[in-house]
Amino acid sequence: MKKIVLISLIGLFMTGCVISNAPVTGRTQLILVDEKQENALGLNEADSILKNATLSSDKTLTNKIVKIGKNIVAVSDDAQKYEWNFYLLEDESVNAFALPGGKVFFYTGILKFMDNDDQIAAVMGHEIAHVLAHHGAERMSQQMLSNVGAQALSSALEIPAEYESLYNTAYGLASNLGVILPFSRKHESEADTIGVYLMYKAGYNPNEAIKFWQKMAAASKGATLEFLSTHPSDERRIKDITAYIETLQ
Ligand SMILES: [Zn+2]
Repeated sequence: MKKIVLISLIGLFMTGCVISNAPVTGRTQLILVDEKQENALGLNEADSILKNATLSSDKTLTNKIVKIGKNIVAVSDDAQKYEWNFYLLEDESVNAFALPGGKVFFYTGILKFMDNDDQIAAVMGHEIAHVLAHHGAERMSQQMLSNVGAQALSSALEIPAEYESLYNTAYGLASNLGVILPFSRKHESEADTIGVYLMYKAGYNPNEAIKFWQKMAAASKGATLEFLSTHPSDERRIKDITAYIETLQ
């Protein structure tokens, strides 16, 4: 059985595995989804979101979001290969997120929790960081590995003839999860580090990131906010960001 799993994994590796390093943190990542597939999934999801969403009619606010986004991607070499789009959606939900390939969405609802451009830059940096570090593709890859492992074990003595179809099945199961599910704690913390680094490099005040997360932590006591369900704002997050900022100055 071990042999089957091993052979399946080799099959996966042959179809386009990449060992890469996350920007800024340098963490080693195993990524089984190539960048084209990853970007296509993100683009697909962005299209369907835009079909059902209303763009903000506030030109000043929209321009502000676009400008902050552009300022942040401008300081990252890794960001240059993407086609970035920054959208402000008219939606009272408190949310912001980015899709693989560089499509970043802010809801008007989250702006009410931001006192200045630096706080917008904090969330912008964080979302851009998820894209740059390929967190979606990494999560898909983890899911694929566990699916393949399970399938290979269940077929016990029979070695699958087509590794390609195994890969496709696993890929199909994993691809949605990569785009839709919340990120893990590890990814959240890494996006905080990369995001704070980028906002600092772009000339924004990183201490405002702490203020934003403190504000979120306070808000979480009274209500369920969408952004907080995927981005828990707790003592540890704020402590980690504070410690990282000290290394920058
Ligand atoms: Zn995040």
